[in-house]
Amino acid sequence: MKTGQTHLFIPGPTNVPERVRMAMNVPMQDMRAPDFGELTMPLFAGLKKVFRTNSAEVFMFPGSGTGAWEAAITNTLNKGDKVLMSRFGQFSHLWVDMAKRLGLDVECIDVEWGMGVPVDIYAEKLKADTKGEIKAVFATHNETATGVTSDIAAVRKALDDANHDAMLYVDTVSGLGSIDFRMDDWGVDLAVSGSQKGLMLPAGLGILCASQKAVEASKTAQMDRCYFAFADMMNLNGGGYFPYTPPTQLFHGMRESLAMIFEEGLDTVIARHRRLAGGIRAAIDAWDGCRLCAADAQWHSDTVSSIVVPDNIDARDVISIAYDRYNTSFGSGLSQLAGKVFRIGHLGSLNEGMCMAALGNAEMALCDAGARIELGSGVAAAQAHYRNDVRQNLKIAAE
Ligand SMILES: *Cc1c(COP(=O)(O)O)cnc(C)c1O
Repeated sequence: MKTGQTHLFIPGPTNVPERVRMAMNVPMQDMRAPDFGELTMPLFAGLKKVFRTNSAEVFMFPGSGTGAWEAAITNTLNKGDKVLMSRFGQFSHLWVDMAKRLGLDVECIDVEWGMGVPVDIYAEKLKADTKGEIKAVFATHNETATGVTSDIAAVRKALDDANHDAMLYVDTVSGLGSIDFRMDDWGVDLAVSGSQKGLMLPAGLGILCASQKAVEASKTAQMDRCYFAFADMMNLNGGGYFPYTPPTQLFHGMRESLAMIFEEGLDTVIARHRRLAGGIRAAIDAWDGCRLCAADAQWHSDTVSSIVVPDNIDARDVISIAYDRYNTSFGSGLSQLAGKVFRIGHLGSLNEGMCMAALGNAEMALCDAGARIELGSGVAAAQAHYRNDVRQNLKIAAE
């Protein structure tokens, strides 16, 4: 019998705030009604603000982030097109796999898991491609398997420096609404996201933002597509309608989650993720024998920490013990990281107290699984980090 709250610290689906859950408890409604656009039109406008774009189109496909990956590719590219990709974790791996299965000619740069997009190599490849054979460059903004954030502005710079007009495709499923993302400033052509991570909603929407250049490309690109066709969506989205039954409950939830993001302020939301992640990282640093999978501070993700456990323990035990004994879910090690890491998702609806619960429960599970960390060591480091932060914000002198 489980009592109290179940602690969900996986990097998606994330905790859905009470306000959002309540907002979704509404009767079904007519998605062809004359006033349906009153519900949906503000969502497109709100998402544009979250993507930080004035000119791009936002699409909401019933589906998930993976569907939005597919929509991005099939709408804008042709079979046999050469694309530049990189792989450094399970999610970047899966996008490469999809691109190959859809018939793209993928040049994939494999990078050690724990590092991010190899911008220097991208820059070389783009400079060398004087004939413009590379049609698209792909980058995973936040690799959720390893807790690595990449520098998308630098990828844009590599394209510009090479005077290359390949389109830029970015997976920001676990970054959008939590880590700085700038569609227009970074010249992103296709940005992929989903509802169940930073946007604090249940799973069910693949969210995609497409630049005008990408929309133009969709008019001539020949890859097969039907359910995900931009043209069908755009025909109806203008009035707030959809070519098939949309998930109206999720729209009601999104109205509330966007309101929450804008009430707090998008910049403040991003700063909060940085602050909370800092406490989590301080704790990991204090755990003897544990370290972040992210190889360097430049890659540290503010939404998920992938924690390498000491050699003599199995991270799967940490995860199952946390779940069985302490009512807490952590993310697992994916693919080559299975058994080696557990992940703490720290994004979305989150505060210091929740992070302390995650860390306290993680310490108990680590010890139970045989790690020789000192109970309280990470908790104390995070407490110091958060207290110090609060003092700075309140301009109270340090003790
Ligand atoms: C969660 C995630 C996905 C996949 O999204 P689904 O909604 O599960 O299809 C893709 N990329 C990254 C980086 C993710 O974190």
